[in-house]
Amino acid sequence: MVDRISKEKRSRNMSRIKSGDTKPELAVRKALHAHGLRFRLHRKDLPGTPDIVLPKHSTVIFVHGCFWHRHKGCRFAYTPKSRMEFWQAKFDSNIERDRRVAQKLSNAGWRVLIIWECETRDPNKISNIIQKYFIK
Ligand SMILES: [Zn+2]
Repeated sequence: MVDRISKEKRSRNMSRIKSGDTKPELAVRKALHAHGLRFRLHRKDLPGTPDIVLPKHSTVIFVHGCFWHRHKGCRFAYTPKSRMEFWQAKFDSNIERDRRVAQKLSNAGWRVLIIWECETRDPNKISNIIQKYFIK
């Protein structure tokens, strides 16, 4: 895939990695609401500061950007054609951090649900994921 993201856009994406209240997060929160699920946001006392926490379900949700967190097989998880080593190192360290965070959370008794940014573009898809996970 071609490296289409401009420098400005990229640094904006970069700065948004952990800022929260992004559009994908809002979409997930809206869907949780619609299913009557109660949640809390950005619990800084938990590993990785999960985006959304559902204490009743012992579940934390991360809404992951496909590019930064490397959504497997996703077209948004391409590798830029320039400075490939830089990107690869960056991606590797993101993946490693995600893995460590998930391990810590699960050791502490939390279930970890990852929702990918590309999945949040379709309200039906989010709704299905939430239904499958929480309601069954
Ligand atoms: Zn994706």
